[in-house]
Amino acid sequence: MRKVYYVFNPTTRTYDRVYPNLAQRFLTILRRILLFIIFGGLSFLMFYILIETPSMKDVQDENSKLLAQYHILSQRLDEAMEVLEDVQQRDDNLYRVILNTEPVSKVARSAGYGGTNRYDELMDMSNSDLVVLTTQKMDMLAKQLYVQINSFDELVRMSNEQEDYLRHLPAIQPISNRDLKRTASGYGYRIDPIYKVRKYHRGMDFSCDKRTPVYATADGVVESAKWQQGYGYTIVIDHGYGYKTLYAHLLDKKFMVRRGQKVIRGEQIALSGNSGKSTGPHLHYEVIVKGKPVNPINYYFMDLDADGYDEMLRIAENHGRIYD
Ligand SMILES: [Zn+2]
Repeated sequence: MRKVYYVFNPTTRTYDRVYPNLAQRFLTILRRILLFIIFGGLSFLMFYILIETPSMKDVQDENSKLLAQYHILSQRLDEAMEVLEDVQQRDDNLYRVILNTEPVSKVARSAGYGGTNRYDELMDMSNSDLVVLTTQKMDMLAKQLYVQINSFDELVRMSNEQEDYLRHLPAIQPISNRDLKRTASGYGYRIDPIYKVRKYHRGMDFSCDKRTPVYATADGVVESAKWQQGYGYTIVIDHGYGYKTLYAHLLDKKFMVRRGQKVIRGEQIALSGNSGKSTGPHLHYEVIVKGKPVNPINYYFMDLDADGYDEMLRIAENHGRIYD
């Protein structure tokens, strides 16, 4: 459609209609186009100077790289969690079993974790699921690592304590008896050698020549080294942790330790003899736990392997001769 132009005529005081020719019209259009270009160019320049805007393609490229990296990160976190789970299982099923203690509870392992509201600020991101999941995994790993480190600290402390306990636990035979030939009679009800009646035998007898060295079976303090009715010359060692050991029918006053003296496992404390109520040279040995005598056969584990244990059990139960 043709544009209509009017020009004011001062003479006639009217508006006269004018018909611009093609050149004039072209110039008008050109002027407008030029204005547009200048204005647009200036705007773009200002925008470009003020805000650096990389191309959309660059942004998309970087975004996909980040996304790929997030996926790798997420996978590696999964692998790290698997390694940690393996460590946790070893902690619960091996270390804590050896040290005879309770495994770390599931509650303690997952404590302080949970509540998704702290990931809210991540939720409005594109790929928010992946970002939140990866962040959650990282948090969980950090938390569980912290629990695991604490657990190992506790285990180190306990094993140091147990080391002391194990040194004070009766664990060897009181006389040298590798081939078990000296095992005479075991713990429990036996026929009394003198009165010929069934009688409770509180310890284990080792047949041996007079003057055979007798050894402390664990670290401890000599509680008494004196004559006791029936037992003859007798040494009692207090090992702490509720354990005591008793060595009876020793050689007359040939004690190598005195009351209150500290002894260590394997230290010679006396020579065997035949004192007190005894039918022949032998050592009577008792292990007393919290005041009650127990079967000493369970306290030779540093001397005996499984076969040795069975063999000693057989000798003590079936062929043993009681000397009292
Ligand atoms: Zn005995």
